[in-house]
Amino acid sequence: MKPLESPSMRAVVEQLEASRIREVANEGLGRTDVLRFWFGESDEVTPAFIREAAIASLHAGETFYAQNLGLPELREALAVYTDALHRGRGASHWVDRLAVTSGGVNGLMLASQALVQAGDEVVAVTPVWPNLVAQPLIMGAQVRRVPLRVQTEGPRAGAWTLDLDALLAAITPRTRMLLVNAPNNPTGWTLDADEQRAILAHCRRTGTWILADEVYERLYFGGGTAPSFLDLVEPDDRVIVAHSFSKSFLMTGWRLGWLVLPATLTATFSKLIEFNTSCAPVFVQRAAAAALQRGQEVTPALVDHLRTCRDTLVPRLRALPGVTLAEPLGGMYAFFRLAGHDDCLETAKRLVREAGLGLAPGSAFGPEAAGWLRWCFASRDTTRLEQGVDLLGRWLTP
Ligand code: PMP
Repeated sequence: MKPLESPSMRAVVEQLEASRIREVANEGLGRTDVLRFWFGESDEVTPAFIREAAIASLHAGETFYAQNLGLPELREALAVYTDALHRGRGASHWVDRLAVTSGGVNGLMLASQALVQAGDEVVAVTPVWPNLVAQPLIMGAQVRRVPLRVQTEGPRAGAWTLDLDALLAAITPRTRMLLVNAPNNPTGWTLDADEQRAILAHCRRTGTWILADEVYERLYFGGGTAPSFLDLVEPDDRVIVAHSFSKSFLMTGWRLGWLVLPATLTATFSKLIEFNTSCAPVFVQRAAAAALQRGQEVTPALVDHLRTCRDTLVPRLRALPGVTLAEPLGGMYAFFRLAGHDDCLETAKRLVREAGLGLAPGSAFGPEAAGWLRWCFASRDTTRLEQGVDLLGRWLTP
C-alpha cells in the first residue's frame, strides 16, 4: 500500500511535545508489580452516592443534548457553592457568570480559544501542568515562562516561591494573558492574597487577562480554601477562573469542570461550547449536582486524608540521602529534588524498570524543574506510600 503523503498539519500542532509522564508510564505497561504515583489522581473510587445519581439519570432516560452552559439546576448549585466559598455576595451574583465545561482542561482551552490569537504574548508562571502552556501555543501565541524560584536554605529549603517583581516586570501592555495555577501542580506552591492583589492591580493597568487555574483550591492545608482571585475580582475584571470536579470530588474520569467568567462573556462562551462539545453529558451533570449537594461528606474528609498522606510521605522522603523537599501547602503532590540525578526523565524510567516505582519526571512541567520528581500522594492506603519510599531507599542505597 502506498504510504500516506506527509499531512500538512500546522507546525505548532505537529511539534507539540508528547507527555513525558506517559513516556515514563509506558515503561511500566503490562507490569503489575509497579507502585504507581505518576498520575494526578487518587486511587479512591468516586463516592457511591455520586455514581448512583448518574445511574438514576440514565435510568430516567436522560440521554439527550442539553444547554451549552450546563443544566440550570447545576449552574444554580454552582452559584450557591461559589458564593459560600467566596465573599458571600449572594448566589445571584454568580449564576450568570458560570459555564459548565467538559473537564477543567476543556474550560481552560475554551478560555485560550476566546482570548488569544496568533502572535499574542502570554505569560505563564512555571513549572506548571504542561497542558496549560500547550493550549495558548496551539492558538499560535508566544508563551513567556516566569519561573518560580527554589528556596535553598532554611526550614523551607526546596520550596518554590514567586518572585513577584519579576512576574510583574514580565507583564506589560503587550501581554494578552497571564496563566497562573495555584495551588500549583507540581510544586504545591500557593499564591497569597497580597500577591493576588498586586497581580490583579498590575493586570488592570496593563489590560492583561488573568486565567487562574484554581482546580486545587479545596486541596489546601492552610485551613479553609486557598486564596482565590474570586475573593478579589469585580464583575468586569478581566479574570477567568477554571475549576474542576476531578480533584475535590474524586471525579477525574467523569470529565466535568466549570469556568467563572465576567458576565459579559457568558453568551460568547455559550457559542464556543456549542462548537467544541455542545454540552457536557447530562448524567455526568446530575452526578455533579449530587456531589455539590452532599459535598460536605466528601471534600473535608478527603483533605484530612490527604494531609495524613502528605505527613506520611514527606518526612520519610526527606530522610533519604540526597532528597530536598519542602512540605507542599496545597495540591496532592510531593515535588522533590534528588541530588546526583539531574536527568529526571531517565531517573523516572529507571525507577520503573529497576525499583518498580512509578513517579513523574519534573521536566514534564518545564525545563526549570529538570532534576525534580513528582509523587502524587493521593493514596487510599497510606502503607502504599511507605512501601514506595522503601523502594526508593533501596534503589538509592542498594
Ligand atoms: N489544572 C491542573 C493544574 C491540573 O493538574 C489538572 C489535572 N491534572 C487540570 C487543570 C484539569 O483537570 P480536569 O480536566 O480533570 O478537570
